[in-house]
Amino acid sequence: MTKVAVVGSQFGIHFFRPKALPEKGETVMAQSYNSEIAAKGLDTAVGCHRLGVPTAYCGCVGEDEFGKRTFEFMDDENMTTKYVVVDKNSFTGVGTCIIEDGGQNYVIVARGANDAISKEDIDKFEREGLFDEIEYMGTGLEINLETMAYAVKRAHAHGVKVLLDPAPVAEFDESIYPCLEFIKPNETEASALTGIDVTNEQSAIQAARWFLAKGVKHVIVTLGANGVVFVDDTHEQYIPSFKVKAVDASGAGDTFGGAFLAGMAKGYDIADAIVFANVAAGISVTKVGCIESMPRLDEVEQFIK
Ligand code: ATP
Repeated sequence: MTKVAVVGSQFGIHFFRPKALPEKGETVMAQSYNSEIAAKGLDTAVGCHRLGVPTAYCGCVGEDEFGKRTFEFMDDENMTTKYVVVDKNSFTGVGTCIIEDGGQNYVIVARGANDAISKEDIDKFEREGLFDEIEYMGTGLEINLETMAYAVKRAHAHGVKVLLDPAPVAEFDESIYPCLEFIKPNETEASALTGIDVTNEQSAIQAARWFLAKGVKHVIVTLGANGVVFVDDTHEQYIPSFKVKAVDASGAGDTFGGAFLAGMAKGYDIADAIVFANVAAGISVTKVGCIESMPRLDEVEQFIK
């Protein structure tokens, strides 16, 4: 039975690797090219599902190649596709990432169908029983923000505990704060949303208190390799990250979010779910890639042993 859902984004990304960027008006050949499907929403759902908690990704794609690949990928991961909407009038979110020799990257994205997910889609999910099935819902800021806020409120009305990953930073309807069980910003997001310059544990605690005053119940500020600050009415806790040989941090935040939701759905208390998420995210940064680097349960258990 599905215990967690993530209402969030999905993209197809084209990766071009030229020696150098083209000059204005110039065309250059890429030395290599590949395309991948990945985005904060789907990644978080996959991160949770791989840790043994059946997770529904809820989002919107177009009737195109990347949309088709999204369904194929989810089938391969044994995830339900019941809550993936296909919008015939849009295209699957798409991006181009140009990676120069030396690793500098340049990214342009178009949100496409991520903007098309609607309140009516959320109403349909509700009629189909989504909010009766799940205990936890994750969401983020890479989709239509009115729909995101509506989904948060509908989930909250059903007693579902909601985690907001406020990424990428954007302005959203602040009336959702009291409906959030958890918010999980990184330093940049915490700084942008609170106006407090978050650079260390102390400033992260200050920012966390800002979110609590807005009505969020539990705040988790991630500080990359420098650990996590967890603050609520009864905790003010610093939890260190694991020391690993990091090679690629992309997707670390989504792995953390997915694993945290998985830990909570398994019945861990919040601090233990954070440690579980630190392990999963710690493993993910030792590998290249986003979705490919997200660990499965046996890897996390092996690490903990
Ligand atoms: P990203 O945008 O790269 O996906 P993020 O900026 O949202 O990530 P971070 O705070 O950088 O989030 O990282 C999330 C979690 O990943 C951290 O809380 C930690 O558990 C793990 N992590 C990230 N970098 C490292 C590292 N170098 N060593 C160990 N763990 C790490």
